[in-house]
Amino acid sequence: QSTRTPLMAGNWKMNLNHLEAIAHVQKLAFGLNDKDYDAVEVAVLPPFTDLRSVQTLVDGDKLKIKYGAQDISAYDSGAYTGEISGPMLAKLKCTYVTIGHSERRQYHGENEPVVNAKVKAAFKHGLTPILCVGEELEVREAGNHVTHTLAQVEGGLKDIPAEQAASIVIAYEPVWAIGTGKVCGSDDAQEVCAAIRGKVAELYSQDLADQVRIQYGGSVKAGNVAEIMAKPDIDGALVGGASLDAEEFVKIVRFRD
Ligand code: PEP
Repeated sequence: QSTRTPLMAGNWKMNLNHLEAIAHVQKLAFGLNDKDYDAVEVAVLPPFTDLRSVQTLVDGDKLKIKYGAQDISAYDSGAYTGEISGPMLAKLKCTYVTIGHSERRQYHGENEPVVNAKVKAAFKHGLTPILCVGEELEVREAGNHVTHTLAQVEGGLKDIPAEQAASIVIAYEPVWAIGTGKVCGSDDAQEVCAAIRGKVAELYSQDLADQVRIQYGGSVKAGNVAEIMAKPDIDGALVGGASLDAEEFVKIVRFRD
């Protein structure tokens, strides 16, 4: 059994305003206890406009819930209208930032160089990237899912030194399983997650690869999380839709029960 602490992260996407965010984090805090936090790291990834409210609540009540953003600019400051920078997120004490989510790749044209620049920006400012990778349906049907996903891992980690790479989180999210209710079979998810760990070992070392946490994401719910978490190379889940229901997310955190 690995010594990696599972990470359950809730990607709220573009849902919940800052008042709803406070109510939601309060519900999570009410539902979770020290035993949960000892066993699992719990994080929420709200929209940018909620982060200050979440920070104030977490700080004020000394909550053990971590939080982060859903995207980061590759640049530190300047004429980049609409962007949010690493220094801004660091100032809000964000722990995590998802980078290269399939919705960013699909709707905002984020490619490997952009994703790689954002991974560098996150590390530069002390944020932990959750690097999202995974194939579209056509790619899986053609049998190229492993090659495709490993190319995204390699692209995201380009020129990232080992000291930084050791703390990265990689989320394997097959695009066809995101928000569709079609969960990837646990054996199929394990196949790709093991290949991702193998790629990290090839790029760095086996020792470093054994430290990196690899999440599965794609229609995770309380009812299917235990089977996914039973796989040796899956160290947590990136949860979209189901993370908007506080009771459901608490059950996901308690996947062992
Ligand atoms: C996600 O947005 O990262 C995700 C996995 O969404 P869902 O759980 O809704 O499929």
